[in-house]
Amino acid sequence: MSSDPFDPAGWDDPPAPQAGNETTTASAPPVPNAPPPYLDGLNPEQRAAVEATEGPVLVLAGAGTGKTRVLTTRIAHLLYMGRAWPGQILAVTFTNKAAREMQQRVAALIGGVAEGMSWLGTFHSVAARILRRHAELVGLQPNFTILDTDDQIRLLKQLIQAEGLDEKRFPARLLASLIDRWKNRALTPERLGADDDASYADGRGKALYTLYQERLKTLNAADFGDLLLHVITIFQKHPDVLETWQRRFKYILVDEYQDTNVAQYLWLRLLAQKWRNLCCVGDDDQSIYGWRGAEVGNILKFEQDFPGAAVIRLERNYRSTGHILAAASGLIAANEGRLGKTLWTEDDLGERVRVIGYWDGEEEARSTADLIEGMRGHGRRLSEMAILVRAGHQTRAFEERFVAIGLPYRVIGGPRFYERLEIRDAMAYFRVLVQPDDDLAFERIVNVPKRGLGDATVQQLHVLARARNISLHHAAGLIVETDELKPRARNSLRDLMEGFARWRSLGRELPHTELAEIVLDESGYTSMWQADKSAEAPGRLDNLKELIDALAGFESLPAFLDHVALVMEIERGAEDQDMVTLMTLHGAKGLEFPVVFLPGWEEGLFPSQRSLDESGLAGLEEERRLGYVGITRARETAVISHAANRRVYNQWQSALPSRFIDELPADHVESEARPGLWGGSGSGYNAAGGGFGSQLRDNDLFGDRGVSPGFQRAAQAKPTRKLDLAVERMIVTDNTGDDFAPGQRVHHQKFGHGRVTHIDGNKLDIQFDTAGAKKVIASFVTKA
Ligand code: ATP
Ligand code: MG
Repeated sequence: MSSDPFDPAGWDDPPAPQAGNETTTASAPPVPNAPPPYLDGLNPEQRAAVEATEGPVLVLAGAGTGKTRVLTTRIAHLLYMGRAWPGQILAVTFTNKAAREMQQRVAALIGGVAEGMSWLGTFHSVAARILRRHAELVGLQPNFTILDTDDQIRLLKQLIQAEGLDEKRFPARLLASLIDRWKNRALTPERLGADDDASYADGRGKALYTLYQERLKTLNAADFGDLLLHVITIFQKHPDVLETWQRRFKYILVDEYQDTNVAQYLWLRLLAQKWRNLCCVGDDDQSIYGWRGAEVGNILKFEQDFPGAAVIRLERNYRSTGHILAAASGLIAANEGRLGKTLWTEDDLGERVRVIGYWDGEEEARSTADLIEGMRGHGRRLSEMAILVRAGHQTRAFEERFVAIGLPYRVIGGPRFYERLEIRDAMAYFRVLVQPDDDLAFERIVNVPKRGLGDATVQQLHVLARARNISLHHAAGLIVETDELKPRARNSLRDLMEGFARWRSLGRELPHTELAEIVLDESGYTSMWQADKSAEAPGRLDNLKELIDALAGFESLPAFLDHVALVMEIERGAEDQDMVTLMTLHGAKGLEFPVVFLPGWEEGLFPSQRSLDESGLAGLEEERRLGYVGITRARETAVISHAANRRVYNQWQSALPSRFIDELPADHVESEARPGLWGGSGSGYNAAGGGFGSQLRDNDLFGDRGVSPGFQRAAQAKPTRKLDLAVERMIVTDNTGDDFAPGQRVHHQKFGHGRVTHIDGNKLDIQFDTAGAKKVIASFVTKA
């Protein structure tokens, strides 16, 4: 049994030292006689970082120098040397996947001892576990719900409306992202300054934030930001609780430290104050989450906050060959705000980084697929190759090509292009257009964007459709001619039905690409995302543009729909199947592949115009760091490409090669641009790239932040409970108009009793006793 005061059964390891005798070794694990088996494989600096187990340590080093390896070996060392039980080690990684891998590697180094490492995870997952144990201290119960973004937005909307604010002017998503940012900065409502307060609805930010937090408590719920923030609050207000946790975690280790935000930093600092055995590893040149509140300055503060910290630098890169490393170092050297590092490798120079210019995006996709096939022919496995994109929508062209030639691929960090939320929505509109009886499609979009056709209305349509054995679309057509729906819903549904009728007739005159744009515009779908202030919205709009471009390659909407159905049908490969990896640069952090393709290095796309517009020079530098991350993922082959032309919303736009290409040191690069594509050899970068810049944004998946950028996971199952989604219960009969005669007394579930005055097919005119004259559907009426 554990000595833990608040969870006698749940702890996974032997007793933590008692208060007052923390330094006794009575409860320490045994120390082995044999020398550690894993140290030999390390260089002297790495070894020093592993062996400096006591006191604060910062490992500050460039890509591929073995930081993660040091962290893993250090855990093995702590366990092997008996410095701690597995449950006394807190190790924070960027993704759950990274945590799992780390655990496996530790196990590979020292065997089964690593199994009890239950505190190896992401900030969010660890914080959630701590919070559950003290939920009552912040007014929650231990079984609190973790809200997903949808729930969060819904809640905020209610609050905004209740405050009498115009949600159109002050969108809930804007408030949600502000609150997220405040929480990343560890700002509770009380701590919010005047500037922040003013940033929403003319100074109502603080009031709404306060209300929101109160409401969350009533619902027994927490959002992602709360997981850390509540724990910090508890630690600050309850020294006894803090002390218990401080005592527990004798050793704390953090990977990818450059991307921690203020709240995470505070949380770590509080936890580490007692033993001060905090080891952080990071690379300021790989800080790529500034837009999410990451503070690269945390690295600089480390030595101040932990005086006497050992700072260890690793300079030997073990990952990449010489040319690749030199190209990456040359690129990052253009950044001003950096600590500066030397990197060297004993590897051969290897291949130069290839820079290939293509005519257009399709040629880029086609040729990349050819290159992949070629390398495969020379013995490379597909799993050794990755395509790393700047923006989620870029995967589409590659996916199409891979499907066409039957090359297995996986998209990591999000759904495949045609499975993304906005693509599915748009496709649902097209499907209803082509095939009105497609109920699944109809149901998907009937209230997207929100048009006052909530669950109750949809339920009513279902009931009618089933009773009559007709499609939802058909049922909708019927019901709008009656008084069954409230006037607002009726009008709105009628508008939608008229829209479909109009688009269908337009389809006979207009090209299908134009029609598709009109449908998305007139239905309000595009504006829904334009009005959306969330971080993912721009990426979704980019995906929609990309969809229209994809359409252009087909002669009609039905042909395109068939194509997509087939693409979607392609079986997902089994986990262990050999597949090419497609993912975003953000998601690739910490990973490595023998062959890396980096497409779309064009002004506007990369560096992303949006990033430049929003954050100026800081944005540019962050983009450059992203480029550095990209190149340094490659072990042996790096291929950068750019296209001279891209189709954007079905119009060709010319694009200039990324300025980053110019910044690559010429000696380490081999250019293969088609002659004459850009009026000669030089690329130049002054003109704007063409307006399709696409900042991709992570949607901060719980515990899996780093793996999801740019892709939209909303299409996938939600792990959390939904809040109050009561659906009206409907009663339906199989009555038809023939079952009634004028004068018949009837009962309608909504309007009560009345008398039939006229029968028109399955529609009845009824004079209700209290509700007055209404037109209703026979199925909803019973004889009284
Ligand atoms: P990043 O900055 O990209 O996260 P990193 O610094 O964490 O990189 P690792 O992923 O730990 O680097 O290591 C990069 C590669 O070098 C891995 O394949 C790792 O196994 C290898 N490596 C690290 N140190 C050594 C070593 N001493 N001997 C041999 N290989 C090593
Ligand atoms: Mg690493």
